[in-house]
Amino acid sequence: MNNENQSNETITFLGTGGARFMIISQLLASGGLWFNLDGTQFLMDPGPGCIVQVTKRKLDPQQLKAIIVSHRHLDHSADVNVMTEAMTDGGFEKRGTLFCPRDAMETDSILHSYLKKSLEGIEYIELGKTYSVGNIAFTAPVRHIHMVENYGLIFKTPKHTIAYITDTKYFEELGSYYRGDLLMLNLTFLQPRLVPNRPGAPLDHLAEPDAERLIKEIKPKTAILTHFGMGVWRAKPEVVAAGLTQKTGIKVIAATDGMTYDLAELDKI
Ligand SMILES: [Zn+2]
Repeated sequence: MNNENQSNETITFLGTGGARFMIISQLLASGGLWFNLDGTQFLMDPGPGCIVQVTKRKLDPQQLKAIIVSHRHLDHSADVNVMTEAMTDGGFEKRGTLFCPRDAMETDSILHSYLKKSLEGIEYIELGKTYSVGNIAFTAPVRHIHMVENYGLIFKTPKHTIAYITDTKYFEELGSYYRGDLLMLNLTFLQPRLVPNRPGAPLDHLAEPDAERLIKEIKPKTAILTHFGMGVWRAKPEVVAAGLTQKTGIKVIAATDGMTYDLAELDKI
C-alpha cells in the first residue's frame, strides 16, 4: 500500500446486501460498515455475519469506539450482541458506546441485558442532536419513514462530510436534510413498490428513481450505493450505478462486499 497518498479516512463495506431475501440467501454479505475516520474506528449497522466479515478481513473489534445502529431491523442489528462482546474483549474490558434509537432498546431490545454492563454507555439517537465519537461528530437530521424508529446520519470528519441515507421510503423533503461531499444511499429496490403484494412486505425502501432525484438534489462529489435487494442484485449494482452516473453527471459507485473506499478520492474530484 502506498502510505504517502493514503488517506486516514476509509469506509469498509462488510456487506452490501439488504432486505430479507438477500439476507437469508447471503448472496451478498450483510455485515454493515466499518468506518476508520481520522483514527476513530466505529461500526455501523452490524447485520447478520458481521463478526464473520470482521474476522475474515482482519479488522480488530477492540479498536472500535462505538457501534451505531440506525434501526432495529435484523439486517442492521443482528450481530450487535456478538460485536459488543468482540469490542469489549469478551466482556472483560468496559469499552465503547452503543448508539441506537430508543425503540431499539425499549420496544425490542437489540442488546442482551447481560452485555449492557460491558459498554461504557448507551446513547439514544434523537432527531437533530449532535453526538461525538473520538474525532468524529454526527447528527441525525431527519426521522425516516421506515416502519420502526430510524435515522439517517451526517458524519463530520476534520476533512469531509458524509451523508448516509439509511432505509427509508422516499419523501419529498428527504434530500433537503442531507448535504455532504460523499453521499451513501441504501438502494434496496430497483422499482418503487407502491402496492404490497404480500402482507408484511418491506416496502419502505428507496428505489432507483429516488436515488436519481436524491443525487441530483444533494450534488455530492461522489455517491456510493449499498444495501441491495434482489432486484438491484439481478440488474447488477455496477450497471445501475453506471446508469445513475450518466443520468446525474455525478460519480456513482456500487459498493461491493469487502470494498474499502478511501475518502482521499473525494479530493481528486
Ligand atoms: Zn430496515
